[in-house]
Amino acid sequence: MDNLTTIFREKKLKLTPQRIAVYKYLQSTKEHPSAETIFKALQPLYPTMSLATVYKALKTLVEVKLIQEINLGEGNSRYDGNPNPHSHLQCVQCLRVDDLEGICFQNLNDEIKDNTDYDILYNQVYFYGVCSHCKNK
Ligand SMILES: [Zn+2]
Ligand SMILES: [Zn+2]
Repeated sequence: MDNLTTIFREKKLKLTPQRIAVYKYLQSTKEHPSAETIFKALQPLYPTMSLATVYKALKTLVEVKLIQEINLGEGNSRYDGNPNPHSHLQCVQCLRVDDLEGICFQNLNDEIKDNTDYDILYNQVYFYGVCSHCKNK
């Protein structure tokens, strides 16, 4: 908790129970949940928290780069408690999202820069496939 207080203070963020709850939930999972999933998971603990509040807390946390928003083209965003650049894999059957470990695409930024007149700020690389669970069904 101390750690979280420090992090929020550094970002000049007010430590509201909603923000803490959303942030902690994202730290506790690797499943890249949507706002709805986070809302449903937190509802038993925070019965007065609305979906709009969850969205607002997520937006703030993304803005201060404590979490990241990932958009896999499903129409709704997923959220990731790990704000560092990394790539993702999505299963086209069950829609689960996993982190792609061990391969980094940040060096692509320089390559793109050399081939265009853009200064590259970041990239998001997604891979789509069938996860081992769905493959074995
Ligand atoms: Zn799957
Ligand atoms: Zn991730």
